[in-house]
Amino acid sequence: MTDLARATSLLTIDVDAIVANWRRIASLIAPAEAAAVVKANCYGLGVAHIAPALFAAGCRSFFVACLDEGIQLRKILPGGMIYVLSGPVGGAESEFAAHNLIPVLNSLAQITGWSAFAKAGSAAPASALHLDTGMTRLGLDEAELDRLAAKPNVLASVRPILAMSHLACADDDTSPKNNEQLATFRRLSGRLPAMPLSLSASGGIFLGRAFRFDMARPGAALYGLNPIPGRPNPMTQVLRLQGKILQIRDVDSPMTVGYGASHRVARRGRIATVAIGYADGWFRSLSNRGHGVIGGIKVPLVGRVSMDLTTFDVTDVPEALAHPGALIDLIGPNIPVDDVAAMAGTIGYEVLTALGRRHHRRWLSRATEGKPA
Ligand SMILES: *Cc1c(COP(=O)(O)O)cnc(C)c1O
Repeated sequence: MTDLARATSLLTIDVDAIVANWRRIASLIAPAEAAAVVKANCYGLGVAHIAPALFAAGCRSFFVACLDEGIQLRKILPGGMIYVLSGPVGGAESEFAAHNLIPVLNSLAQITGWSAFAKAGSAAPASALHLDTGMTRLGLDEAELDRLAAKPNVLASVRPILAMSHLACADDDTSPKNNEQLATFRRLSGRLPAMPLSLSASGGIFLGRAFRFDMARPGAALYGLNPIPGRPNPMTQVLRLQGKILQIRDVDSPMTVGYGASHRVARRGRIATVAIGYADGWFRSLSNRGHGVIGGIKVPLVGRVSMDLTTFDVTDVPEALAHPGALIDLIGPNIPVDDVAAMAGTIGYEVLTALGRRHHRRWLSRATEGKPA
């Protein structure tokens, strides 16, 4: 409790809601498997708390971005399949094997490297193959796939257990690119020996059954972001970010607020100074744009967001609610992450992964009631 009293900002992560979001997707796509994308520390929300809860709920396949994330996750999850999206870089094959990590092989060079490593006799784990169907980022293109298919023993030696691709426009169900990539994925994967296939992340899951194949790889949807922008969010919000009011100022015209004097006070009122700034991942582009909520009342963000502080016009909030020490909601049930992102001119993914290290963090779950790591 004293911890809470000392905190200047508070981030509460509802692990049970994340698990519920995973279960919802798992039952929606069954019998296809629901993996969980837990890269970037579960999009900033705390992989050490979330991955074990997903595993306990039955999730068995996890995706991270890079080797270090894989090694960290392996310590947390002795069981479970861990796929590393970047694949082995700079001769790291033996480290993949040592930690039982499944590399996603994105290029012929990575395939050759894994093949040589596996043939050298070490107990190399299986691998996944990434096919580029139109993202033009990672993966084998059609010509490279043809060269690989012409060397069946190289292909066999990397022991592929999954062929995957990634959609460029899955958040827009009117984009013709989705069906193009679907057709390309079918055609390219058809040149490989039969193996489980995976095309969709959060958005693709909602494009329909044809996009689900044997496994889907949701990330954002687990963390409450809307996988179908423009329609009601089928996922549950998992986050609450609260900033503490440090000071209340009585103001009147012609005063100005903050750097650049960008907010001019128009009437007698009150300004609350809150202990969150862009160093906490509260975007500077929210200056004079966003809002918070206190006691169910929307309070406009006024003036510039600075490194450690943000100011809100709390004139319309009773003094009993807006006082030094009171908490103001910046993200929460009434302010979804996606809305904050829209106000900041970015996407929910960036808001989540930017969430700062200074917030006092709490993870809510029945198993570990409020216990911080
Ligand atoms: C990040 C990522 C995902 C998860 O995407 P979401 O949109 O967060 O569901 C899935 N697959 C790949 C290859 C990724 O890079």
